[in-house]
Amino acid sequence: MIKVNEIYFSIQGESSKAGLPCVFVRLTYCNLRCSYCDTEYAFFEGKYLSIEEIVSEVKKYNCQLVEITGGEPLVQNESLLLMKSLADDGFEVMIETGGSLPIKEIDPRVMIIMDLKCPSSGMLKKNLYENIDCLKPTDEVKFVLGSKEDYDWAKQTIGNYRLTEKTAVLFSVVFGKLEPVKVVNWILEDNLSVRFQLQMHKFIWEPAAKGV
Ligand code: SF4
Repeated sequence: MIKVNEIYFSIQGESSKAGLPCVFVRLTYCNLRCSYCDTEYAFFEGKYLSIEEIVSEVKKYNCQLVEITGGEPLVQNESLLLMKSLADDGFEVMIETGGSLPIKEIDPRVMIIMDLKCPSSGMLKKNLYENIDCLKPTDEVKFVLGSKEDYDWAKQTIGNYRLTEKTAVLFSVVFGKLEPVKVVNWILEDNLSVRFQLQMHKFIWEPAAKGV
C-alpha cells in the first residue's frame, strides 16, 4: 500500500513537458523541509491505496502522461513498483524528486526531474550528488533559485559536474522571492545552456491553489 495525498488531472507546470495535460499522483511524506515549500499539506495527509487502485484511478483520466510527485515520492519504496506498473501499462511516466534519496532503482523508462537544492532552500547538505551519475540524457535537473547566491552556486555546480553535457538543466525561481527578469539576464550574460521556466500553474490559478 502507498500513502497518496491526491490524484488529479491538470497541465504540467514545469519541465520540458510544461503545458501538456498530465495526471499527477502526489504521494505523502517528505524527508526535507525546504524554506519555500508549497506542498506542506503533503507531509502527512493522505490515504493508503494499493498500486492497482492508483493505476485504476489514473486510467479514468484517459491521459498518457503521468507524474509521480510529492512531498518526496521516493520516501515510500513502493513508489518504484508504482512507476514500473504504470510504465508496463504503457503510460509515459515522470517523477519529480528532491534529489536527496537514491534514484538508481527507478525504472529506466521513467523520466526523472531531479532537484539539486540551492543554499536558500536550507537543504543544501541533503543533496545526494552520486545521483548525477545515474541520470539519463532524457532526464532533467532543476535548480529553484531564491537569490543571486543560489544562481552563482547553481552555475558553479553545473560546471563542477558538467551537468549540461549529461542532461537538460532547468532554472526556475522561488515564486515571489526572486524576479524572473534578473535570472534571465544573468543566464544571458553568462551564456548558460539552461532552460529558464516559470511555474506555469501559478499564473493560471491562484499561486497557493491545491490540486492544480
Ligand atoms: S522537497 Fe519538495 S515537498 Fe519536500 S520540503 Fe522541499 S519543496 Fe517541499
